[in-house]
Amino acid sequence: MTSPLDGNAAAGALAEVLGRDLTTAVATCAACGDVRPVGALDAYMGGPGVVLRCRTCRAVQLRVVVGSGRAWLDLRGVRSLQLELT
Ligand SMILES: [Zn+2]
Repeated sequence: MTSPLDGNAAAGALAEVLGRDLTTAVATCAACGDVRPVGALDAYMGGPGVVLRCRTCRAVQLRVVVGSGRAWLDLRGVRSLQLELT
């Protein structure tokens, strides 16, 4: 496994899919309950998409793949995602 970047590296892919900046959204890890901003998760960019992992337990929290005019978003590792409404 390569060294992770911080979750801010995933900002572009997430914004492309969701139309907003998710880096300040607060994610609760489904595996261990860790709570931190998406921008503070560990990002792995080496595959076909972006994988964000929990810094505490290393579980995958979020995956996003963009290609061929479609996007796939896997949030099963997030118990809840808190977004500030503006
Ligand atoms: Zn965790």
